[in-house]
Amino acid sequence: MNKPLAHPHLSEPVARFLGGKHQAFIDGKWVDAVSGKTFETYDPGSGRVIANVAECDAADIDKAVAAARAAFESGPWPRMTGSERARMMWRLAELIEKHAAELAELEGLNNGKPVANVGNVDLMLSCETLRYTAGWATKITGETIALSTAPTMHAFTLREPIGVVGQIIPWNSPIMMACWKIAPVLATGCTTVLKPAEQTPLTALRLAQLLQEAGVPDGVVNVVPGFGPTAGAAIAAHPGIDKVAFTGSGEVGRLIIQAAAGNLKKVSLELGGKSPVIVFPDADIDVAVPGAARAIFTNSGQVCAAGSRLYAHTRVFDKIIAGVAAEAKKIRIGHPLTEGTQMGPLVSKEQLERVSGYISQGESDGALVVTGGDRIGKEGYFIEPTILTDTNPEMSVVREEIFGPVLCAIRFDDSDLDEIAKEANRTMYGLAGSVWTRDLSIAHKMVRKIRAGTVGVNIHSSIDPALPFGGFKQSGWGREKGRDVLDLYTETKSVVMAL
Ligand code: NDP
Repeated sequence: MNKPLAHPHLSEPVARFLGGKHQAFIDGKWVDAVSGKTFETYDPGSGRVIANVAECDAADIDKAVAAARAAFESGPWPRMTGSERARMMWRLAELIEKHAAELAELEGLNNGKPVANVGNVDLMLSCETLRYTAGWATKITGETIALSTAPTMHAFTLREPIGVVGQIIPWNSPIMMACWKIAPVLATGCTTVLKPAEQTPLTALRLAQLLQEAGVPDGVVNVVPGFGPTAGAAIAAHPGIDKVAFTGSGEVGRLIIQAAAGNLKKVSLELGGKSPVIVFPDADIDVAVPGAARAIFTNSGQVCAAGSRLYAHTRVFDKIIAGVAAEAKKIRIGHPLTEGTQMGPLVSKEQLERVSGYISQGESDGALVVTGGDRIGKEGYFIEPTILTDTNPEMSVVREEIFGPVLCAIRFDDSDLDEIAKEANRTMYGLAGSVWTRDLSIAHKMVRKIRAGTVGVNIHSSIDPALPFGGFKQSGWGREKGRDVLDLYTETKSVVMAL
């Protein structure tokens, strides 16, 4: 492991940002929480407190919803054209790029993701999602309908913004999640009240400064840091919110649905996964091995689409496991701000305990640890990339989302494709999956048999702003990104004219 930085050297912009106040952003103004309360936020690479942040609760959510409603109904926002909104989104992307070094450092410090990864993946995808979705701002149209019973009438549909949205995001890719959520809001002309995760509020607050600089009118985007059971629950239940968009655990997803029932607000959910990586004996091993390793170890396994169940044909199983274990040992683990770090810590002490708990449970259920399994050091929340074999489908490590760098490897033999797919589909989740083979027939057949929202062939879960993303089964409701996201943020109005 690279030596953890005792006192990370911070750049001047990050030091300045951390030295300031971290208030809520409501109606274009920086304000303390109504209660005056704050909470501490940490560097998971050292476990040290790096800032105190306004702790919003129901009273602040009321203020933010009132601001979002006013901005939706009056003032400059509803009068802006799609073209003006799109230009604003491009300006925001440019500002993110201008401040990329600072944002990457701040994200690494608060979330634990290596700075280079934040820049190359999270910030790149944040900007590209803003630009791609901006393209739709000028293409939100209905269609002319030929009525089936009254052909002489003129009928058409309009697509109108759904209204005030509540958005609750997790800690695993904070700024990218914020941009993925804000992009369709801006493109469609909605307004939002966005709550970042309590572990990682900082880049969302910095993003709010950039939104203001990009010219987004007051009240359109409100950022309210706070805790799930207070601020988050108040968003989910608020009668003034028309739609809630949530990314996180299935457990909280269920709470959101219940709370949303009060005013029957629309709900979209991007939940977890336990995604299979299926390697056939004819696969290119030199492609499959690093691909399977990346599928689980990227972002310390804290990825909803992580390939956490590896199914390998018995003829190549040992070779694949040895290869992935070798890849795991090569990963340079260290403080996210240390140059050359490839894997940082888990996001929090709780997550470290949760992941360690799963590994211990797996071992006591009879799984074999091929590599990893232990915490690294005492400072920060580092854990070794881990591979478990000798698992069975009843074990919690195979059934449940661990959200850490823990891979369960399982053999299959010459069973037919239906049997292999049945095993891969034996999960309540359906977010992603991948098939590794050079046989086109196997590839096409398996793609159709896997019950998941995104399936890769010789690649695991490629994310792109143009590609719809979401889950089958208990992995969620609705599709974000691509053209599909417009369905989540607009209402269809049918118009009939008796001429
Ligand atoms: P949660 O689902 O608890 O958190 C996600 C977001 O929901 C956070 O902003 C959280 O706030 C908020 N929240 C929590 N409780 C409520 C509530 N009652 N009403 C409204 N909002 C609420 O995830 P955890 O952080 O607890 O992580 C636990 C597990 O969830 C992980 O180990 C992983 O398995 C899964 N997960 C999946 C993610 C995905 O991308 N699909 C992302 C994150 C986690 P607060 O920050 O205050 O907790």
